[in-house]
Amino acid sequence: MTKLRLAIVGFGKIATTRHVPAIAASPDVELVAVVDPKAKSPDVPNFASLDALLLDGPDIDAVTLCTPPQVRSAQARLALAAGKHVMLEKPPGATVSEIAPLVAVAQAAKKTLFATWHSRCAPAVEPARKLLAERTIKSVTIIWKEDVRVWHPGQDWIFAPGGFGVFDPGINALSILTRILPRPVFVTRAELGFPANREAPIVVEMEMADATGLSIRTEFDFRQTGPQTWDIRIETDRGRLVLSGGGAKMSDGGNGVVDAMKEEYPTLYRDFVALTSKGECDVDLAPLQIVADAFLLGRRRTVEAFEF
Ligand code: NAP
Repeated sequence: MTKLRLAIVGFGKIATTRHVPAIAASPDVELVAVVDPKAKSPDVPNFASLDALLLDGPDIDAVTLCTPPQVRSAQARLALAAGKHVMLEKPPGATVSEIAPLVAVAQAAKKTLFATWHSRCAPAVEPARKLLAERTIKSVTIIWKEDVRVWHPGQDWIFAPGGFGVFDPGINALSILTRILPRPVFVTRAELGFPANREAPIVVEMEMADATGLSIRTEFDFRQTGPQTWDIRIETDRGRLVLSGGGAKMSDGGNGVVDAMKEEYPTLYRDFVALTSKGECDVDLAPLQIVADAFLLGRRRTVEAFEF
């Protein structure tokens, strides 16, 4: 099988730390170009814009968009119009409604649009989904608290409109939640704390439910110093299940049952290659819809101004 010739668009933190190693380890994908206004790859030709790559660059079959969400849909449209498969980093876009037109274009052209949710590839996620399918779930608590200065240093786009603020990491928790629960969930209450000088929330408290009345409580906070927390605690009729470390670990009734190191991105590239071989799309918007609904329903309060 010939390798998928791929360009990364947006050569920042996630592209360099996760995508480049995953592509290098893949027998089926070859990185042939990079697009970024400033950052450069020492290994492949660099282009300042996607237009420039499509005009003057090497032949490519696909792009991975690792740009901030605000510029993704225009880039996806451009790439699909040029007949390329498209992998989207999470979140798939800055709005929910911008995605359906992309899916329509991709399907008409039999090209792949893959909206990735890397946290769903964490090792505890599938085991948790299987266990929960056999249990009665009584309540869920999500605590997702991290230090934005450590994990997103200087990324001003994250606090700009469409940047998601603390929902940028929080949507990872929602991607796990919507994968492991047996029924769809919806937002019932939200309170979003916006720094006085920013356009996206830095702290969120949210409640959700499902059709059976299951209570799901969520705390997202970007101001956490010291120990960082990416936990989902689920009370069930057979004890408490805890996913910690963003889905890297799971304990069941206090007994550790998953504690594995597993890179998430090689799985995404394996799935992408499989989708491109059939020209199929994989786009699940459930986590993005929850974030949008929190903005629709949420009470807004102003909190202390934030500088990196
Ligand atoms: P980042 O470090 O800011 O990287 C984004 C890159 O895209 C920057 O180099 C930026 O250049 C470039 N860029 C901006 N506009 C562009 C355009 N029009 N064309 C080409 N390149 C452009 O951000 P990141 O942390 O990698 O995050 C990117 C996406 O990945 C986000 O959606 C995020 O949620 C997701 N993600 C991040 C992480 C993480 O831990 N960081 C984990 C998983 C997923 P400038 O800096 O010059 O603007």
